[in-house]
Amino acid sequence: MDELMDFKMYIDFHTHSDRISPNLINLQTIHVTSALQAEELPKICSLGLHPWFIQNSSWENLVDLAKLSNVVAIGECGLDRNIALPIEVQTSVFKKHIKLAEQLQKPLVIHCVRAFAELISLKKNTKSSIPWIIHGFHKKIEVFQELLKHDFYFSFGAAILSDRSPVINAIAIAPNSRFLLETDDRTDISIEQIYDRAAILRHVLLETLQEQLSETYNQLIGLY
Ligand SMILES: [Zn+2]
Repeated sequence: MDELMDFKMYIDFHTHSDRISPNLINLQTIHVTSALQAEELPKICSLGLHPWFIQNSSWENLVDLAKLSNVVAIGECGLDRNIALPIEVQTSVFKKHIKLAEQLQKPLVIHCVRAFAELISLKKNTKSSIPWIIHGFHKKIEVFQELLKHDFYFSFGAAILSDRSPVINAIAIAPNSRFLLETDDRTDISIEQIYDRAAILRHVLLETLQEQLSETYNQLIGLY
């Protein structure tokens, strides 16, 4: 068995921080510009063109770097209705990510704001075979169940810390094999805090949650 598995591991599935800790898998997500070089990449990372920064990005460089073995996922990428960039432009860039992820057989890490219907239809129409993980999911249970039905995965973050967030009902019932946890761009919270809170909301021991999420992570990423 992998030496790492002896630890009770924490997995931060989507973070912009470069934190290093012996019992942490820190999946750092990096926006790809033309200046980004392979030598700068951490031990494991996820690469994509974030819809907010598409103007300042390099598709060619992403294609080159995404082949590297330390790039374990594609993204974050996706659709955002709260920004000025037309959704048609965003969709065409997102579709390129879907194709790339499919070619490389690496999972897609998705940023989605007010575009879940489009996301579901894209998943259906592209007949994609790789996992699609919606990061920072914080919506109510009806949206969650609709996405679950279409085989999406979820990564829950800071929203679960709030008693007022509708997402606490979704994380309570999410199947073990369909979600992970993250800190995203929040430097004021830790992944340990998110795990503690998720364990409480799911009525499981922290150790049990850690084992379940390690297994899910290995299913999503470990294969590559
Ligand atoms: Zn992010």
